[in-house]
Amino acid sequence: MIIPVRCFSCGGLVAHKWEEFNEKKKAGIEIADALDEVGIMRYCCRRMIVSHVDLITEVAPFSAPRQ
Ligand SMILES: [Zn+2]
Repeated sequence: MIIPVRCFSCGGLVAHKWEEFNEKKKAGIEIADALDEVGIMRYCCRRMIVSHVDLITEVAPFSAPRQ
């Protein structure tokens, strides 16, 4: 879905670094190095980024409108 705003374990903000991380990953930088460069150092926060699968564009068409 959408990247969680905060780390589930420590509460650190991670969502604002998602786009920057993806750009570095696309540019061919190693994932560990990209995480270091965007400033995510704790392993609990790193797993939030590494384990995330961005499915919002695939799921959104099936969501029911709220009334
Ligand atoms: Zn964390």
